[in-house]
Amino acid sequence: MSYDPDNLFARIARGEIPCVRVYEDAATLAFMDIMPQADGHTLVIPKLAGENLLDTPPAAVTAAILTTQRVAVAVQRAMQVPGIIVTQFNGQAAGQTVFHLHFHVIPAAAGAALRLHARQKADPAVLEAHAVRIRAALAAG
Ligand code: 5GP
Repeated sequence: MSYDPDNLFARIARGEIPCVRVYEDAATLAFMDIMPQADGHTLVIPKLAGENLLDTPPAAVTAAILTTQRVAVAVQRAMQVPGIIVTQFNGQAAGQTVFHLHFHVIPAAAGAALRLHARQKADPAVLEAHAVRIRAALAAG
């Protein structure tokens, strides 16, 4: 499959579709997953085009993973969870549904089952409330 420049996350990166943003720099963007598998589920994307990890230029992958680390630390603090799951799917057969590289940052607590992948939309007010906490954790360093 060839990269579609009008895929959902490319359009979010260009500001054409709104998102609940928690972090942005020149190379990356982090925003709340609209169908979170756990409260605080955040997505990190490079702004540069690439379907997934296999075809995205190394510099963009580097920028995205560094932002993923930063966001993961902030999400853990903000959501006060003992664990963080980072996932990333490559290809439809692997479960990828949006074909622009992204890392999932998902809060994890023992005994708390994750909700199903990309299944149920969260209340926008709840997403924003979680984003406020994550932004504050990022600002606190
Ligand atoms: P993938 O299945 O490609 O690894 O992950 C795509 C993710 O994008 C899913 O977790 C899904 O919930 C999320 N998603 C789908 N549509 C939207 C949307 O319009 N906005 C946001 N913020 N996330 C979305």
